[in-house]
Amino acid sequence: MSEKSAGTVKVCNAVTGKVEEVEKVVKSDEEWQRQLTPEEFHVARQGGTEPAFTGRYVDCNEDGLYVCVCCANHLFPSAAKFGSGTGWPSFFRPVSDLNIRTAIDTRFFMTRTEVLCRRCDAHLGHVFDDGPPPTYERYCMNSASLRFVRKKDL
Ligand SMILES: [Zn+2]
Repeated sequence: MSEKSAGTVKVCNAVTGKVEEVEKVVKSDEEWQRQLTPEEFHVARQGGTEPAFTGRYVDCNEDGLYVCVCCANHLFPSAAKFGSGTGWPSFFRPVSDLNIRTAIDTRFFMTRTEVLCRRCDAHLGHVFDDGPPPTYERYCMNSASLRFVRKKDL
C-alpha cells in the first residue's frame, strides 16, 4: 500500500516561525513498522506508553527541537522542557497549537486529554493542567514518539 493523499494541514515551522501548509502523512501499519522500532511503533501508532524513567529524553537538557518520530513535524522546543519528576519528558507548551491536536481519552477508567501529531496522528502522550507558569500545562510525552534534533543541526 502506498501513501494516500489525505489533504493538507497548516503547521508552524519552529525554525522559521512561519506557518506552512504541508501534506498530511498517512501510512499503513506495515509501512510504519518498517520505519520505526517496535517500541516506537507500539507507542506512536498504537497509543502505548513507555515505562516511566526509561525514555531516551527524560534527562535530555540540550538545546534543540523535539520532532515527531514518524513524520518530523516540529513538536516541542527544548526551551519549553522542564523537570517534572514524572519519568517522562515534559513540556509547558508545544511549538504551536497548530502542530498538535488533542482528543479525549477514556481508557483505563480515566478521562485524560490525549495529544497527537497534527500531521500524522501519532500518539504523543497526554496533557495535564498542573504544569508550571506561564501556561500551567504539562505535556507529558513519550520519548519513543519524539526525535531530538540539536540546535546546530536544525
Ligand atoms: Zn507526526
